[in-house]
Amino acid sequence: MAESAISSILDSIEPQERLKRLIDFSNLIQVEPHIPPIRYYRSGLEMVRMANVYYKEENFENAYCLYLKFMTLFLEKIRKHPDFNTVPANMRSAIQAKLREVLPRAEKLKEKLLEVYRQDYEKYCAHLLKLQDDENERRRRENLAKKDQQKSKKPAVLPSDFLTANIPGSIDSVNYPDPNVPTPKPSAPELPPPYESDFCFPTTPAFDRSKKPSDHIIASDKYDSGALKTVVVPGRVMSSFENMAQSNTNKNIETCGILAGKLEKNQLIITHMIIPKQTGTSDSCTTKNEEELFDYQDQHNLITIGWIHTHPTQTAFLSSVDLHTHCPYQLLMPEAIAIVCSPKYKETGFFILTPNYGLQYIANCRNAGFHPHPSDPPLFKKADHVRIDNGAHLEVLDLRK
Ligand SMILES: [Zn+2]
Ligand SMILES: [Zn+2]
Repeated sequence: MAESAISSILDSIEPQERLKRLIDFSNLIQVEPHIPPIRYYRSGLEMVRMANVYYKEENFENAYCLYLKFMTLFLEKIRKHPDFNTVPANMRSAIQAKLREVLPRAEKLKEKLLEVYRQDYEKYCAHLLKLQDDENERRRRENLAKKDQQKSKKPAVLPSDFLTANIPGSIDSVNYPDPNVPTPKPSAPELPPPYESDFCFPTTPAFDRSKKPSDHIIASDKYDSGALKTVVVPGRVMSSFENMAQSNTNKNIETCGILAGKLEKNQLIITHMIIPKQTGTSDSCTTKNEEELFDYQDQHNLITIGWIHTHPTQTAFLSSVDLHTHCPYQLLMPEAIAIVCSPKYKETGFFILTPNYGLQYIANCRNAGFHPHPSDPPLFKKADHVRIDNGAHLEVLDLRK
């Protein structure tokens, strides 16, 4: 119901204007100077992977939006990153190759979308005309009925001109559309489009929350976890991970792993858990030799969906260091989750930074190591967009050996 309301609102926007809004939305992508540019380059390849899935599934609007974000990011915004010069040549050439692939495809998609928008708009205008005709017809009948009623009540003794003299205006004229009733006209409502927030969604609010309530509803839906795609987590993730972490856990050392997978029918499905080379302490874990991890993800066409780590002696929560570790994941992929396993307390937590507050707060926090953060409003919350699938397949790769 809500979706059809939104789609009819979008249908009422003139095609060129509707396309412009999509382009403007895609241009909102921002680069955080404190996230190393390499992470954007890694993420860029995943953006194209996801856009290709949308394209294959004929979700052309989301595909176009994501290709546009990719182009905006690498043709323009990343160049302003203070560490842009540190990006290795092989990464740059990988992205250049993708750009050559994406540009013509995006151009074709634009034409396709314009055609779809034109058809939507024509349908919308035809629908409006029909509504107006129906309304005119209804009024005509209503007036006819009134007229008949008046006639039947008319006292036989009165002269025929008595009636017309006592009713303002001519009876005949009210059979036709009332000129005082405004004709509905197609107008471009000031609603932000409900496009996907895939990848690098802006860290400054995309839409002015002080606007009309109708604006607020869609804008906040879009950026609350309520609008996030479902992340499917195979039940095996937690049990396998705890097994693989056991020897570290016994020594009171943390273990971490990367969760990766694919986009399918608008869900993010974790299919792989990769344990990278790492060093750990009782309350931290640092990955080593990430190149190896990236190569594997590239070979298997994987999208990064989150990470998992143990708290050997503590409960399942996100420490201040965890919040900072998680921040780039979620900035680059709004659905990215952090899973925390606490074998001691037999707890598992599925967390995200609060999309409307914690994400930006941590992105702006310049402290390193363990440090206090205010807890109100909350910086992180339970990830409501997670679905556990106990039957789902999981590939596990341990790069520590
Ligand atoms: Zn932790
Ligand atoms: Zn902080």
